[in-house]
Amino acid sequence: MNEFLTDRLKAILPKFNAILNDDIFPIEDIFLRGDLKNLQIEISKIQEKVKSSGLWAPHLEEKDGGLGLTLLEFAHISELLGKSPYGHYCFNCQAPDIGNMELMHTHASDALKEKYLAPLMKGEIRSCFAMTEPDRAGSNPVIMDTTAVKDGDDYLINGHKWFTSSADGAAFTIVMANTNPEADNKYKRASMIIVPLDNPGYKLVRNIPVMGETGEGYFSHAEVKFENCRVPQSNLIGTEGEGFTLAQERLGPGRIHHCMRWIGICERAFDMMCKRAVSRELSPGVTLASKQSVQNWIAESRAEINAARFMVLHTAKKIDLEGAKAARIEISTIKFFVADILLKVLDRSIQTHGALGLTEDTVLSYWYRHERGARIYDGPDEVHKAALARRILKDYKE
Ligand SMILES: Cc1cc2nc3c(=O)[nH]c(=O)nc-3n(C[C@H](O)[C@H](O)[C@H](O)COP(=O)(O)OP(=O)(O)OC[C@H]3O[C@@H](n4cnc5c(N)ncnc54)[C@H](O)[C@@H]3O)c2cc1C
Repeated sequence: MNEFLTDRLKAILPKFNAILNDDIFPIEDIFLRGDLKNLQIEISKIQEKVKSSGLWAPHLEEKDGGLGLTLLEFAHISELLGKSPYGHYCFNCQAPDIGNMELMHTHASDALKEKYLAPLMKGEIRSCFAMTEPDRAGSNPVIMDTTAVKDGDDYLINGHKWFTSSADGAAFTIVMANTNPEADNKYKRASMIIVPLDNPGYKLVRNIPVMGETGEGYFSHAEVKFENCRVPQSNLIGTEGEGFTLAQERLGPGRIHHCMRWIGICERAFDMMCKRAVSRELSPGVTLASKQSVQNWIAESRAEINAARFMVLHTAKKIDLEGAKAARIEISTIKFFVADILLKVLDRSIQTHGALGLTEDTVLSYWYRHERGARIYDGPDEVHKAALARRILKDYKE
């Protein structure tokens, strides 16, 4: 995809690649053992090296200590770092922090930026984003029970959320809560409010076990409660009732980040599949690579990954040029299309590895479990397919 590479990218990609190969891959066994505490220590060491190499938080503007990349340029970085389950963490550009940084950069007050965004950008604290509720369909988040009611100069927040990723150990969350429940326009009822997580009205109920993993820290998905949680009204991001507009703005680039990270996973799984195919002998001199079903998996995976990358980079370019709103249909299209390819490529690579593919000796089984969520988080497949089909059919009806 050289047509998408800028001179600036050509200069920096090898530097990212070097850290991936020299520092990030070598500690993968710690991750595979599930030793998340030691992993965190090792990630902190890599973060120091990343900072001193001038590659920290590449998505940020240069004045904020980043590299000032366009979304199209950052997409390439996201693919590269996606080859490791903790690649993005080493560069402080992981979800949900990256989405929160982008959101606050544009819409938070100067005081909020100083108190929350500045330490987040430096990697001194972590954050999370609490929108989904256990008792309401997350696919249609305009219907929410969480409320933020004015009380003097404060909001009193009450509600129950879950799948608040990375809440364990985070310093603050951005919570979506109804501030204007009576608004005629259902998209104007909710707002985004910052809640520091040492607030006595906030409670982390549990880290939810997901596909066999309880998770902790970065890798947690928490159930949380807000019970008469009091925060100043100045913790509002943007204006009252603007929550859904901001959520769409946050999720557009976020889906590019996810899709390119998935393509990075695909490339790693593909590489492992090809290496296994040529090295695993079924009988003397006869490798898996000689079997047509394996050849089909390799050919189909190559074509599908290339197609997916092209579509995502095209969408990133459109967002750069015209904004996320103009690219809504492209964003929906890549979200379900790339998630499907990701799971197919992972499955083929596991099948090629046989029983080894199911073990924790390779990263494949982790990704197979963890990335099943790709078809659900940030909007399930069906919601995005319906959006695309509606757009197509609109033209026919007209
Ligand atoms: C790993 C992971 C991390 C997450 N992190 C966060 C986070 O940090 N913060 C946060 O707020 N949320 C997070 N979520 C929640 C996620 O955004 C929701 O799970 C998602 O929006 C779907 O909502 P739901 O689970 O309530 O499913 P529901 O809304 O109950 O939908 C269930 C199923 O119904 C089907 N469906 C839904 N709508 C339609 C439709 N219109 N047409 C046809 N079929 C439909 C789909 O198959 C869907 O999977 C995370 C989820 C996962 C899995």
